[in-house]
Amino acid sequence: MKHKFPVILVKSGLLILFLAVAMMLPLTGCSKKHKSSRSDGGGGGGGGGNGGTGTGTGTGTGTGSGGNPGDATAHDLTWASPIDESQADLEYMADRIKTYANGLWTGTEGQGYLRNQTLKNNSSDAKTIIQGGIKGPQSNPAGMCSFGGGGWTITLATGTFESQVWLHEFGHAWVGPFSSEEYNCQDAASGVCIQGAAMGRGGAEGLSKWCDPENCVASQQCWNKMQASHNWAHPGPGGSQPACNVTIE
Ligand SMILES: [Zn+2]
Ligand SMILES: [Zn+2]
Repeated sequence: MKHKFPVILVKSGLLILFLAVAMMLPLTGCSKKHKSSRSDGGGGGGGGGNGGTGTGTGTGTGTGSGGNPGDATAHDLTWASPIDESQADLEYMADRIKTYANGLWTGTEGQGYLRNQTLKNNSSDAKTIIQGGIKGPQSNPAGMCSFGGGGWTITLATGTFESQVWLHEFGHAWVGPFSSEEYNCQDAASGVCIQGAAMGRGGAEGLSKWCDPENCVASQQCWNKMQASHNWAHPGPGGSQPACNVTIE
């Protein structure tokens, strides 16, 4: 069976207004699963630069200098756009991937990272498929994580969403792995939660915390699951981010 998480849905302004009103109501049953949500339609177009640590130098095959990964789990992933992209857009996407890498390192507190990434042009053979093209429209759903054949596949509508869209999907794929949604776990002041990143959040790039019993404002308490499934420490070792290299092919 194939399970899908159509995680972040882009809706009309009307729904946004509805959600804004709904969120002002007293919260009852905040663990309730939401069928649909939205991502903010704007923002997200900007490149990386969220104040994190540096990653590899340039795009292509350069090897960047980075921190010591220690015992962190390395992920060597493939990415693909099904359309024939320009070199400039491929380089833009390589930078996006490096920004995701920064978010993953920060969010896992130094216990998971993106190491050697391959970005394929004009292909759909990858773990993350940028379905509508790198600069394609921010369509609905923004991101999805599908399971089948013993593995996961992430689909992004476009490469222009904030990092938390991909991080949220990778939360389903590996970080939790989370099999349910937590859209209403949102507290901008404490920066949670990546799994709640879908609704009502502004366009701020770099949301990169999963919630824990201290700061969860819904019920999932993501870190409990993360610690149980990965045997991670929380707080984790942190440290400076290992290099993330992106090869374009
Ligand atoms: Zn959470
Ligand atoms: Zn939470």
